[in-house]
Amino acid sequence: MANLGNISSTAELLQKYQFRMQKKYGQNFLIDTNILRKIMEAAQITKEDCVLEIGPGIGTLTQYLAETAGSVIAVEIDKDLIPILEETLAPYDNITLLNEDILKVDLQKLWEEQGGRQFKVVANLPYYITTPIIMELFESHVPLESITVMVQSEVAERMQVGPGTKAYGALSLAVQYFAKPEVMVRVPASCFIPRPKVDSMVIRLTRHINPPVEVEDEAYLFAVIRASFNQRRKTLVNGLVNAGSLGVTRQQVEDVLEQMGVSKTIRGETFTLERFAELSNRLGRVKGQ
Ligand code: SAM
Repeated sequence: MANLGNISSTAELLQKYQFRMQKKYGQNFLIDTNILRKIMEAAQITKEDCVLEIGPGIGTLTQYLAETAGSVIAVEIDKDLIPILEETLAPYDNITLLNEDILKVDLQKLWEEQGGRQFKVVANLPYYITTPIIMELFESHVPLESITVMVQSEVAERMQVGPGTKAYGALSLAVQYFAKPEVMVRVPASCFIPRPKVDSMVIRLTRHINPPVEVEDEAYLFAVIRASFNQRRKTLVNGLVNAGSLGVTRQQVEDVLEQMGVSKTIRGETFTLERFAELSNRLGRVKGQ
């Protein structure tokens, strides 16, 4: 039975193992059973599912996942948490615990080892690497059905906004391209130990069956998007040319923008996903020439 998720059992366990929280790993443990239940409701896990949990911490959410899912793979970077997890997860035989950095895990291989079953991701993400993790999950091409994650409110906002807003960027476009975002629960800072400076949200990203735009080379689309937002204050042309990795000249970029009927002085933050798709398709055809 899940028995963590409150301040006294969490503190007792941390004391028993003399565990010191590591700020560098974004460790804010959940201590609210109500929120844990809401995450489970949002994630819609069944016995058919293989769940990937990123950063199990002391295993609070992992226990709930193990009771509901067919199997769970929990990837934790902090080796000092492993003995604690071995104790808290001992009652379950459907968990694979990996002491690794999620950004270095070969997700494709992991998925193949699970017999190619459909994955769902559920996690209270470490805040310092939320965006790279989400981008990695999407770009890995593992058929994730959904990603239900706790993120800082400000990141949840970035996932949902469109052009012309300060928060708009590569993450907003990746989410739009790959999934439908829905805010499921608002979570006050008081639900964690230690208490973070800002509130959080649980957001569910349900993968699109087909992306909303037609793209000839998806990796190139995201290279174009990243380059466009790397230097926010520069024009789109400068961003794309300065990136150096796109294989296009200034002249080619300017010609393509002209063909699209767009000014040479435009900034990337005004471009919609449709515009980026068109831009990357056109640039992809002329690059290297
Ligand atoms: N799931 C736990 C909970 O809800 O109480 C802990 C969540 S805490 C916000 C984030 C967890 O991610 C920590 O356990 C931290 O050590 C782990 N973590 C941080 N960076 C990681 C990485 N690169 N790969 C895997 N785990 C990581």
